[in-house]
Amino acid sequence: MVLPILKYGQPVLRKKGARIERVTPGISRLIADMFETMQEARGVGLAAQQVGYALQLTVLDVREVIDRPSTLQLDGQPADVNSFMPLVLINPEIKPLSAKVTGPEGCLSFPEMYADISRPESISVSALDERGKPKAFQCGGLLAKAIQHELDHLNGILFIDRMSAEDKLKLKPQLVALRAATQVALAHKNG
Ligand code: ZN
Repeated sequence: MVLPILKYGQPVLRKKGARIERVTPGISRLIADMFETMQEARGVGLAAQQVGYALQLTVLDVREVIDRPSTLQLDGQPADVNSFMPLVLINPEIKPLSAKVTGPEGCLSFPEMYADISRPESISVSALDERGKPKAFQCGGLLAKAIQHELDHLNGILFIDRMSAEDKLKLKPQLVALRAATQVALAHKNG
């Protein structure tokens, strides 16, 4: 089922996600719905907060992006990124492995807004998979960038928190309008 993607101004986007102790049928259903929602929106990543759940859960798929490459290492050996997709990360933890690089980012909760964000180029990741089994890997490029963006969501951090003051100022009219539209939607729902 395709779920509505919550936009900037929705309080749940600022909530830190609770850890998932067990992959229940409800969580499995949420994972399937998040994939469907992300695919329909043509995104590379989606966090549970973006569909209304403050949980440590994100889904990713970078296969459609060919102009921004990703790298992957499993057990220290280079591995095929595409066959590692789609990717479910539950309770993810990351460690930076390199210096920061700057590149453009967008977010499904901020339609039509883009800004340069600095993040480590490569990271190591440990998490649980969709069956609740531990997984660990290293990655770089777009995949590393996307995972760091989603991990921020799981902690209630948004990409506007990481962009330069200058970029944020440039986007301010759009941000104000989006927040206002969200407030109207919330008032309508609650009233
Ligand atoms: Zn986002």
